[in-house]
Amino acid sequence: MAARASACPGLLNIVPTRDGGLCRIRLPGGVLRAPQAHALARAAARCASGVIEATNRANLQIRGVRVGAEDDLIDALLAAGLGPADGAGSLDARDGVRNVMLSPLAGRDAQAVLDMRPLAAQLLAVLQHTPEFAALSPKFCVLLDGGEALVARDHPHDIWLAAVTDQARGTQLAVGLAGCPADLDHGAQPVAVVAPQYALELVAALLHSFLKLAQPGQHRMRDVLADHGVATLIQQAQQRCNFALDARPDPAHGLRKPSATHLRMGIHAQAHTPDAPALYYLGAQWPLGRISAAGLQQLADASDGVLHFTPWQGVLAPDLTAARAQQLQTQWQALGLLTDAANPLAQLIACAGSSGCNRALADVKADALRLAGLLDVPRAVHLSGCVRSCAAAHCAPWTLLALAPDQYDLYQYNGAAGFGAPLATSITLAQAAQMLNAQPINPD
Ligand code: SF4
Repeated sequence: MAARASACPGLLNIVPTRDGGLCRIRLPGGVLRAPQAHALARAAARCASGVIEATNRANLQIRGVRVGAEDDLIDALLAAGLGPADGAGSLDARDGVRNVMLSPLAGRDAQAVLDMRPLAAQLLAVLQHTPEFAALSPKFCVLLDGGEALVARDHPHDIWLAAVTDQARGTQLAVGLAGCPADLDHGAQPVAVVAPQYALELVAALLHSFLKLAQPGQHRMRDVLADHGVATLIQQAQQRCNFALDARPDPAHGLRKPSATHLRMGIHAQAHTPDAPALYYLGAQWPLGRISAAGLQQLADASDGVLHFTPWQGVLAPDLTAARAQQLQTQWQALGLLTDAANPLAQLIACAGSSGCNRALADVKADALRLAGLLDVPRAVHLSGCVRSCAAAHCAPWTLLALAPDQYDLYQYNGAAGFGAPLATSITLAQAAQMLNAQPINPD
């Protein structure tokens, strides 16, 4: 059985970094209620540096936790209902298994085939109540793609389920392993198709089979597949299922384009019934995913009770009338949130960099701010302080990999594994900007 990795930050597992402890708060479905936002922000200001980051799994993390203030922080977060539910295993293990991703518009997206929220709630409960699942790595993640226009289907996951409409059988779920539904370049294909009522049983069977096959040091699905192959895993999962698994799905099932960038930001229509008034959502991002404790409190005050965090280090407010959406957009902009994908900062991502991480070879956060001022048009560029690539769950069109302060290698994604093809090595940020400005603009 896979040994549980412990280097991953969590609510109870505060990991030391260059700027203090790092505490990650998992938000089921990305949802944070206003009282929780206030409690989290107060705790971050009292026990840490007050810097909060949105993550690419729609979670939040508190940076700069002071030595000696960890218990105070943990108690405050648990009291706000931000910890795991009652269940099996330690609090820390139950916290770590809560990695179920779904669209921030689940249940509200006009293009969706299936509302994945009920399955997400059931799966979260099973993950926390099954003693064996406490052995899953805190990085192990399941994606539930309901067919929404806005879903992180280009982020690799250990298991993904994507709702499809099958002419003969109606709504089905294509199931894939160690990849993502939009991973066309790597030939990711579904390995099975299942009716929605069997999805929970199948995921549980896949998790049990994964844990049975995993050797010490193997924490992710790709590790087990490399040793045993898909057929063995599916065979073992079938033995645990009380239904016949269709392991010959249409290869095209589940394969879709990544969500368009502009849908994450600004005002867009959402699903509504014909006899109800039109509803809208507002999406936004913080520059480079960072917000202050005071900023989070102001955001909670300005919004309507519930914040939906997104896998693009952003936030979304759904169920707005047209007038309220316009009003809220003005308020959010005044708080410093970016609501326009045409803002050069909106498409740049950067990890903590040398101000927060001992491994970083450059201050990539500061360099990303500088790069925004040097680019002629917005470009999706990922600045990484080292090869670990913490800030990007997906492959960005361009990557600047730090070698030293103001020294980078520039890559262009070409479908190959890793960052892509090297375009230049050991260049300054200004040289990188010049090269990027000469490139065709982002496809979207
Ligand atoms: S990518 Fe490297 S430098 Fe950046 S936060 Fe991760 S480990 Fe640190």
